[in-house]
Amino acid sequence: MKFVVLTIFPELIQSFWENGIMRRAGNSGAIEAEAINIRDFALGRHRVTDDRPYGGGCGMVMKPDPLAAAIQTARHKAPGATTVLLSPQGRRFDQAMARDLAGRPALIFVCGRYEGVDERISELFVDLEISLGDFVLTGGEVAAMAVMDAVTRLLPGVLGNEDSAEQDSFNRQRLDHAHFTRPPEFEGRAVPEVLLSGHHDQIALWRRADALLRTFARRPDLLRGATLSPEEIALLRAWHRELERIIHHPDGGSPDPPSSDG
Ligand code: SAM
Repeated sequence: MKFVVLTIFPELIQSFWENGIMRRAGNSGAIEAEAINIRDFALGRHRVTDDRPYGGGCGMVMKPDPLAAAIQTARHKAPGATTVLLSPQGRRFDQAMARDLAGRPALIFVCGRYEGVDERISELFVDLEISLGDFVLTGGEVAAMAVMDAVTRLLPGVLGNEDSAEQDSFNRQRLDHAHFTRPPEFEGRAVPEVLLSGHHDQIALWRRADALLRTFARRPDLLRGATLSPEEIALLRAWHRELERIIHHPDGGSPDPPSSDG
C-alpha cells in the first residue's frame, strides 16, 4: 500500500510514520509513505497556498492551482491511487470503509486547512471525500492519520498476530470483549475468574458472551441485521429471560406463583 499525503504541514505526518506500527509497516515494506508539501507547488516568492473567498466573508480558501499540481505529482508517484479529500462533509469513516481502502493499491490524501479547499478540486480530482465524524477539525492531517492507521492495521502481516485485527471491534458487527492484565486484583476489582482458569474453551465462550453483551448494551445498532450464531441466540434468550424475571420480580422472588397447596 502506498500513501501519499498532500499537506502544508508534512512534518506532522512524518512524525506519525516514525513510530509504532506505522514505522514497523514501513520497515517491512507493507506500506510506502510520502508526504508532499503543497507549498512546493505554489508560485511566487511567498509560496501562498490560500486566498480570500469569492463573495467575501471571513476565512481563507486553499487555492486550486497548487493543489492540482500536487495531486498530479502524487498520481505520477502512485499510479492507480484513489484520491481522498478529508472533509467534514464527506462520507463518515468506519471499519467497513477501512477494509475497502485496505484493498486498494494506493491512497492520496488531500488535507484541507482554513475554510477548506476550492470546490473545483473536489469536482475535478477527488474520488472520495471522507469525514472522521460530525465535528470540525482545524486541518485534514489528523483525519488522514486516523484513516492511514486504521487501514494499515488491516494489511496482511502488519500486526504480529493476525487474530488481533480479527477480534477488534466492528469486525463481524460486534464490539471487542473486555481485556484484563496483571494484577489479578486492582483497586478492589478482580479479574473475572474464568480468565484465570486456564480453560481455553470456557475463556473463549466468556469472550464471545462478553463481546455480545457489550455490543447489545453499548451499540445495539450493530446487531441489527447481524448474523447471530445459535450460541449467541441462546445467550440473548437467557438474558431476555433474566431481564423479564428482574422486571416482574424486582424483589428477587420466585417467578412462579406459589402453589395453592404449598
Ligand atoms: N469550512 C469547512 C466546513 O465547515 O465544512 C471546515 C473546514 S476545516 C476548519 C479545515 C479542514 O479540516 C477541512 O478542509 C478538512 O480537510 C479538515 N477537516 C475538518 N473536519 C474534518 C472532519 N470531521 N473529517 C475530516 N476532515 C476534517
